[in-house]
Amino acid sequence: MARAFYLYNTLSHQKELFVPVHPGMVGMYVCGPTVYGDAHLGHARPGITYDVLFRLFKQLGYKVRYVRNITDVGHLENDADTGEDKIAKKARLEQLEPMEVVQTYTLRYHDAMRKLNVLPPSIEPRASGHIIEQIALVKKILEAGYAYESNGSIYFDVAKYDEKHHYGILSGRNLEDTREGTRNLDGQDDKHSPLDFALWKKASPEHIMHWPSPWSEGFPGWHLECSAMSEKYLGEVFDIHGGGMDLMFPHHECELAQNTASRGQGGVHYWMHNNMITIKGQKMGKSLGNFITLDELFTGRNSVLDQAYSPMTVRFFILQAHYRSPLDFSNEALQAAEKGLKRMMLAAKDVDKLPTDPKAPANAEIAALPERVYEALCDDLNTPIALSVLFDAVRIVNSVKDKSLVINPADQQILHTLFTEVLHDVLGLEDEGAESGSGQLVDGLIGMIADVRKQAKANKDWATSDRIRDELKALGVQIKDTKDGCEWTIE
Ligand code: ZN
Repeated sequence: MARAFYLYNTLSHQKELFVPVHPGMVGMYVCGPTVYGDAHLGHARPGITYDVLFRLFKQLGYKVRYVRNITDVGHLENDADTGEDKIAKKARLEQLEPMEVVQTYTLRYHDAMRKLNVLPPSIEPRASGHIIEQIALVKKILEAGYAYESNGSIYFDVAKYDEKHHYGILSGRNLEDTREGTRNLDGQDDKHSPLDFALWKKASPEHIMHWPSPWSEGFPGWHLECSAMSEKYLGEVFDIHGGGMDLMFPHHECELAQNTASRGQGGVHYWMHNNMITIKGQKMGKSLGNFITLDELFTGRNSVLDQAYSPMTVRFFILQAHYRSPLDFSNEALQAAEKGLKRMMLAAKDVDKLPTDPKAPANAEIAALPERVYEALCDDLNTPIALSVLFDAVRIVNSVKDKSLVINPADQQILHTLFTEVLHDVLGLEDEGAESGSGQLVDGLIGMIADVRKQAKANKDWATSDRIRDELKALGVQIKDTKDGCEWTIE
């Protein structure tokens, strides 16, 4: 925990030394998916970025509370205050109850994240489960004088807020810039200004998701849930709020304004934004015909793809770029990542089998590796540099394998720890083996059974040792005794 950690803060536009609100603890909130469709390539980057941050803080000894929400209501089409609710629309088209849509795509999202080895967050709250908290927050903002009622809907008064605070501080805009990008009110609108955004919307008769409130039967505005749920689970002031760059405006800007209007302060010490993934330089979009779901990526079932890419290849590909840099998807880049990952995993697997010589001198390059890798990770999560340090370790392992270098057992241990702690525990990269994770499990189980058999033989319990051999044989596993123990092959 003594290690200094630097994080780029979107709010101050610079790297800052991380100082937690509560010593030894980290509270982080990340905007999760709106669950109305399959998880796609665009979900993988924030999923993996904040997962590595979560894992790193834990590795550094912090107690971390990681909250990542599920948006299941209030996110209207075009991310604006008009149009249909994205989930309700999907429900209407597929003749489902909206919560059936939510359940289906939440499970699919979880499944994709599990394949990518993204750990579940500590809390995963849903917007629809926090209507009471959101109504309470609207009341506070109304009482503070930063919102108004109009025909049963409540809107945030941006101009009024901007008199005292700076609306646009997060995304680097001022009120004038913001005004230029907005359309004029068409007279049908209940808003006083097109800049204002909804805190509560009165539901139209055809709107299927609605709740009672003091103002109308309606639903919360999209930005409100994150202010309400982050405060509920992390407190009025917490450490980190993350999300994709596309959420910075208006979503996070509005969240920051809501926090300030209701609590008198922004409430978030470090705002973090990951950059986007492009496909051959283009934004990914259904209308552009280059939309790739994670499922398609893992199975190769999309005409954009030359082949299937394993979840670990995708994870490795994403970590090869710094989270604040743009990342361009191409088959060539994914294929290069696949090769790099294989080389890395092979070395990580071989490290324990390396020959060592207790008389070999300590290797200064090996001794420096852990410091170099943590320095990179603690410098605003620089995963590409961390991976390049790990590739230095790969090169050393390969030199020992081809006998051009001799190392001592203590240095072998440093390499072992480096791969275990950093490659597996922090970067979350696992050996998928020939048949993914189940291959490792099978190897582990057979190894355990072989140990029991060895024990039986040592006790001259021939009946048990023969029975284990025969039953494994019946399952297609050939076990053979060797000089140093035994080896097995699976048919
Ligand atoms: Zn959010």
